[in-house]
Amino acid sequence: MPVPFLDLKAAYDELADRAEPEMLKSLRSGWYILGPDVARFEEAFATYCEARFAIGVANGLDALRLALMAVDVGPGDKVLVPSNTYIATWLAVSQCGATPVPVEPDAATHNITADGIRAAMQPGVKAVIPVHLYGQPADMGAIMPTARALGLKVIEDAAQAHGSSWDGRRIGGHGDAVCWSFYPGKNLGALGDGGALTTDCPKMADKLRMLRNYGSREKYKNEIPGLNSRLDPVQAAFLSVKLAVLDDWNARRAAIASRYLEAFQWTDLILPKVAAQADPVWHLFVVRHPDRDGFAARLAERGVATLVHYPIAPHAQAAYADMGLTDADLPVAAQLAQQVISLPIGPHLSADQCEQVVESVLVSV
Ligand SMILES: *Cc1c(COP(=O)(O)O)cnc(C)c1O
Repeated sequence: MPVPFLDLKAAYDELADRAEPEMLKSLRSGWYILGPDVARFEEAFATYCEARFAIGVANGLDALRLALMAVDVGPGDKVLVPSNTYIATWLAVSQCGATPVPVEPDAATHNITADGIRAAMQPGVKAVIPVHLYGQPADMGAIMPTARALGLKVIEDAAQAHGSSWDGRRIGGHGDAVCWSFYPGKNLGALGDGGALTTDCPKMADKLRMLRNYGSREKYKNEIPGLNSRLDPVQAAFLSVKLAVLDDWNARRAAIASRYLEAFQWTDLILPKVAAQADPVWHLFVVRHPDRDGFAARLAERGVATLVHYPIAPHAQAAYADMGLTDADLPVAAQLAQQVISLPIGPHLSADQCEQVVESVLVSV
């Protein structure tokens, strides 16, 4: 029996009876940009994230760009970003005309730390983007006071972390703005592209609402040069239904993660480290193997699908060749790119499939 990496069709099927009437209502409402369905989801999502405000946008990359625009990051500025992240974190900075400055992560948690931020600090840095990678929250308890002491704005990339907490508080309102993606494969995935920002700051929320909508608060009155980046009502209607099951679905992921952590504890695999204050949501279950590609091939022979997040670090991408950064400059990111491999995990991975992954890993490692 083949084990898929993630089964999006099964996720849709479980929600179809509840979601289809809501989407149909939205389609038949005659309201196709922003409006009541988006407002209703924004309110529910803010509450879920323990934040005061949520603003629905077109995708996660736009959420990051809008947050940077809102804190006035532009040409000549620098922004600290993790050296190992999905490339969107870096691209958002570049698209504002600013320069990404990589921060090496803690190899065990895969996330950047307050010490890493201090070490990477240089003149011209205006903001930092901690990423809650793979659903593991970064150490916001240490990062916030450090960033404040350095005079930095904090934009969080929470595209993989819907529902995770640091020290008992949900990710969503620690930093100045928190950026979310509803790309279908994320824990809170839509049926297409979508994104949001959350924040506790009323001024930030107000500015983001303008920036996502042509810089306009009132129709045909444009106060600042904004984007057109809005969450679709029909996606919002679907996301409202999915949000109601998110904790349950995250708990299913956590059960699989505990099984893997227990089953693989005596192997040579390097397992994900969960910080004591972290309550992760296991967007991905990422382990390290010195011969990653051989390990992946042996798992594939047994029908277990795996992926690599991510095989090429941003600094090594052709898109960033002009920065002249080499693997020797960012050895942690370079080594992670060579060794990480993601095992199947998701709310629709059955107990049998989970055991098949366990057995296959134990004989392939
Ligand atoms: C998915 C993702 C994004 C981008 O989200 P999109 O909605 O695809 O634009 C940004 N950062 C991280 C860490 C992501 O995983």
